[in-house]
Amino acid sequence: MSKSPPESSRSNPAAHLATGATMDENAGNGDLFSLPGLSRPSPHGGFPPHELFPQVAYELVHDELLLDGTSRMNLATFCTTWVDDQARRLMAESLDKNIVDKDEYPQTAALEQRCVRMLADLWHAPDPGSTLGTSTTGSSEAAMLGGLAAKFRWRAAGGTGTPNLVSGPVQVCWEKFCRYFDVELRQIPLRGDRYTLHADDLAAHCDENTIAVVPTFGQTFTGLFEDVAAISAELDRLHAAGGPDIPIHVDAASGGFLAPFTAPDLVWDFRLPRVKSINASGHKTGLAPLGVGWAIWREAADLPRELIFDVDYLGGSMPTFNLNFSRPGGQAITQYYEFIRLGRAGYTRVQSAISVVARHFARGLAEAGPFTLIHDGHPSAGITAVSWRLDGPQDFNLYDLSDRLRARGWLIAAYPLPHDRQDETIMRAVFRHGFTIDMADQLLADVRRALDQLARHPVRSSLTRDEAGGFTHDARPAVPVTPPGPR
Ligand SMILES: *Cc1c(COP(=O)(O)O)cnc(C)c1O
Repeated sequence: MSKSPPESSRSNPAAHLATGATMDENAGNGDLFSLPGLSRPSPHGGFPPHELFPQVAYELVHDELLLDGTSRMNLATFCTTWVDDQARRLMAESLDKNIVDKDEYPQTAALEQRCVRMLADLWHAPDPGSTLGTSTTGSSEAAMLGGLAAKFRWRAAGGTGTPNLVSGPVQVCWEKFCRYFDVELRQIPLRGDRYTLHADDLAAHCDENTIAVVPTFGQTFTGLFEDVAAISAELDRLHAAGGPDIPIHVDAASGGFLAPFTAPDLVWDFRLPRVKSINASGHKTGLAPLGVGWAIWREAADLPRELIFDVDYLGGSMPTFNLNFSRPGGQAITQYYEFIRLGRAGYTRVQSAISVVARHFARGLAEAGPFTLIHDGHPSAGITAVSWRLDGPQDFNLYDLSDRLRARGWLIAAYPLPHDRQDETIMRAVFRHGFTIDMADQLLADVRRALDQLARHPVRSSLTRDEAGGFTHDARPAVPVTPPGPR
């Protein structure tokens, strides 16, 4: 396609210029950035009419992504931002493996099943060998499956009214589940100093149409654990007093891979008979790469048969109960790698190390400025995150602080609390595998620098939430939820 420049100019790229030759775009001199495609803006609008050399297209995409934040400095995300070389290799080697082709890739299917058994064991299912579970694209899909199972069980038990789901302040996936599948979401309002769902609020919100109570084991807003054991005990009490027998689904997106290792005595899982299903994100504290979550049922009977499809057109007969069909297999494969590579001892070591970093940051932050800690990262209180609010009236807000830190590359979410406490802004930093004490110290130095700057150059008009950037991870429905009508 491109004509080679004469030998003399190839050995000395400037030679043809010296002889007066023009640099023809199509002739090129071998330099990537003088190739056609890189001297024009990249295609943005309609479907691109022409092709590009792969190295040119790669460079365009690669360079545009320089404007993205640095993932390891992103303390707004809960998700994996560091994996070792072996995990990267397994991901690359499984690029072409579709997890749904269980007949064609039986070993991928076997590894996924082993992960299900391992999680059922980790979360104390009565018979880990026989229960059901599946990998998913994340906790959101796993939550949908847990919610659907609860809805189908409620209906099978004779439920006929408008189903409802009772929770504290939940992650947006539960708002989605309720909207998409016509369930009324009863999020119990926060009272007083409470940030979490409290058992003594349940009686007023539960009834015979409650398909499940969903405690969040590691809240998105604060990082705090909701007290699953107390919630379970209260539901026991309601049932014993003649009320409905309401199951629990635990949203353990982050907590499910932390508490078993760093707070093993905390009872939140299948040790409580009322807990029928659990979701967790393998790609958060599970340490797997992005794109895997898990849904596990207490016993096979807790997953209604109607949700399971047998697909046979790929050869063999394959039970599936996912919302997706085709999906990459590498994530579940790499999850299995992490499980066997680290085991209980390794996970305990890794998660404890992050917890030390989180608490180190919390101590430094409390000394740095007018902040009150909501969660200090203690492993029996919540996930490896720190959340805080600003004390008293200040002439800056947390969006201003978030913006100052962003100038140094740190991405830390500031956002209003849910619903009834919208006037209160909080900030949260999630610490993950790969974040060192040294990085925490540098972040603290930048917090102090930002506070100093804000004090010396008072903010005349503080930033609003929208101006501070849209990376807060607490998406809410764009339109208010209309409660589903009876059917
Ligand atoms: C992250 C999160 C979710 C959603 O999980 P994804 O894996 O991102 O789909 C749900 N619930 C809680 C508590 C979370 O932290």
